Amino acid sequence: MKPDPIVAPLVKKLFEDYSTGLYTQQDLLKKYKVKGLKIERSALSRLLENPLYMGMVKVPAYKDEPEMLVEGLHIPLISKETFYIVQGVKNGRTNLIKKLKGKNDNFPLTSFLTCPECGQVLYGSQSNNGKSKKVTRTYNYYQCNSKHTCKRYRVEIIHNKLELALQNIKPAKEVLELFEKILIDEYKNVKTDRLKDINDLDKKIADIGYNQMMLTEKFGLDKIKEEVYNKLMDCYEKEMIDLKAAKAELGDYQHDLDKYVSFGLSLLTNLSEFYKNAGVEVKTKLLGSIFSNKLEFFENSFRTLPFNEAISLIGNYNKALGRNKNKKGSSQLRTSLTVPGVGIEPTHLSTRV
Ligand SMILES: [Zn+2]
Repeated sequence: MKPDPIVAPLVKKLFEDYSTGLYTQQDLLKKYKVKGLKIERSALSRLLENPLYMGMVKVPAYKDEPEMLVEGLHIPLISKETFYIVQGVKNGRTNLIKKLKGKNDNFPLTSFLTCPECGQVLYGSQSNNGKSKKVTRTYNYYQCNSKHTCKRYRVEIIHNKLELALQNIKPAKEVLELFEKILIDEYKNVKTDRLKDINDLDKKIADIGYNQMMLTEKFGLDKIKEEVYNKLMDCYEKEMIDLKAAKAELGDYQHDLDKYVSFGLSLLTNLSEFYKNAGVEVKTKLLGSIFSNKLEFFENSFRTLPFNEAISLIGNYNKALGRNKNKKGSSQLRTSLTVPGVGIEPTHLSTRV
C-alpha cells in the first residue's frame, strides 16, 4: 500500500489533531474540508478506528480463532500510541478536553515546548527552596523527563519572552483592512442561510406593505367595500406581525457581523494583551493557532518560534509593504488566513527574542 502523497499527510495530521482531544469530529470535518479532505461524517468515524493507519491489519474471527490484529506489511502513517490515544478520545475514556480544563494555569506552555537537549516535551513542575528556610518559596519550572541531565527553565523567563514575541506581531493598517474584508467574507459564508432568511423576510414584508398600499388606494377610489377592505387589511396586519416576529428571532445581522469583525480585529492587534488576560484553555487554543510546531527555548531565548503561515505572512507582508504593494501578496495572505496551511509547508521563522 503506497500512501497518497496529498491525502496521507492530511490523515496523519487529522489523527494527531483528534488525539489532542481539543477537536470534535465535527470540528475536524470542517477543518479538513477546507484543506481538501472531502469525507463524510460516518467515513471519518470509521477512518479514526481503522488500525491500518498504525500499520496493523485486522484478521477476522475464523472458526475458534477470535478476531485479531497482526502487523501489516505497509508503512504505518501514525504511531500505535497515537492510534490508541485516538481510540480513547473517541470512546470518551480519555477525555482530554476535561483534562485540559484541569491544565494548570501556571503552565500554559505545557506541551508546546520541547527540550533543546533531548527533544522531549517540557512540562510544568514546582519546587521550593527547602524546609530549612524560614519562608518557603515555590518556584515554577518547565522541564523534561530527564531531570538530572537536562536544564530546567523558570516559567517567568519563558513567559516574558513569549509575550515579547507576541507583542512583535503588529499588523500594518493595510493588513488590517484586508483582514477586515476576510472576516466579513468569512462571516457571510458561514451565515449564508441566516442572511438569506432575513432577505426573504424583508422581501415579504415589503410585498405586504405594497399590498396594503394598493388596497388603501382601491378603497379610496371606492373600488371595494369597507367590509372587504377591513377584512383584507386585518389579514395583512396579522401576516405582517408574524413576519416581523420571525425576523426579530433571526436577530440583528449587521450588529452581530460588526461585533464579530471588531472582535477579530482587536484580537489581531492586541494579540499579546489578549493572550495575557486569557484563561489557560483559551491560551492553549491561541498558541495552537499561532504556532505550527513546538517551541524551543535555549539559553535565555527562543531558538525557534515556528509561527504558522498566516502569522508569518503578516510579518512578511508588513516588510514588503514598504517596498512594493503587489497584489500577489494580498491574495496570498487572504488564502492563508482563510485556509490555514493548505498543502504548503509551514514557514518557520527562526527569531531570537
Ligand atoms: Zn531534556
